[in-house]
Amino acid sequence: MSRAAPRSILRSCVLVPAVLLLSLGLHANPDPLPQDTGAVGTWQRLLKLQTTASVMHTTAHPDDEHGGVLAQLSRGQGARVSLLTLNRGESGDNAIGSELFDAVGLIRTEELLMAGRYYGLDRQYFTTVIDYGFSKRLDETLEKWGREPVLRDVVRIIRRDRPFVLIARFQGNERDGHGNHQAAGLITQDAFKAAADPKMFPEAGVPPWQVLKLYMGGVREDEDWTVKVDTGEYSSWLGESYQTFARTGLAFQRSQNGGRSAAVPGPAVRMRRMSARIAAGDTGPPRKSCTTSRVVRSRPKR
Ligand SMILES: [Zn+2]
Repeated sequence: MSRAAPRSILRSCVLVPAVLLLSLGLHANPDPLPQDTGAVGTWQRLLKLQTTASVMHTTAHPDDEHGGVLAQLSRGQGARVSLLTLNRGESGDNAIGSELFDAVGLIRTEELLMAGRYYGLDRQYFTTVIDYGFSKRLDETLEKWGREPVLRDVVRIIRRDRPFVLIARFQGNERDGHGNHQAAGLITQDAFKAAADPKMFPEAGVPPWQVLKLYMGGVREDEDWTVKVDTGEYSSWLGESYQTFARTGLAFQRSQNGGRSAAVPGPAVRMRRMSARIAAGDTGPPRKSCTTSRVVRSRPKR
């Protein structure tokens, strides 16, 4: 018998239960939120049938997301809403335990899945890159990740999800702070173009997809902005504002905030439109089918 056999058996014995545990954990299906059952839940599902609007929000780490915006778009407007988080925040501190690196990344994945139930997310995605540590430099992040591999991942996810609108949390410059944040903003802009280009990362059975609009977040009140999402709007179905409801979800990300949720952004989130619809000559107002334009207020022309 070869000496490799016992090691192989041992590896199987260890890995199979580990994979099963991981699989069970990531697919845990806790009881639905009270707001997703009964009359409220029925209304939420009916709302989703009234529109074909769809949005994908892109960030770098768990808890970077605009939870209030996601809740307003999904629970308030009925859009199909996805969240793409580039990595799982593996290198950060752990506010609730001793787990670090891959272990805390797994915890943060679960926390984000829990938070996503409050945001009303329909789908969540991660890419294959890791949070390697704190960095203020975009070039360092792109050097460690490789610009092409992470772009390939994001393009593949966009083509499979097929959102009409992309909302990047970050802008792709020093303003974003962490190098991972800057990369998330930059790669989102790259992917907006690349996902529609049939020559970029062709994949059998996954056709190119042209996102209609791209919005960049992180815009301050006194800066030029084009749309504003009123996350402070009161929802009679939730009994509180979308922002407050989302804060309950954010509080689940305890490995980062210890249960505090004060980091929720202000009631109005401003964004800048970066790219118009691609259809030739189609520069008119947003289509009726995209309800994002119904409540998201455009800035009046000056
Ligand atoms: Zn972050």
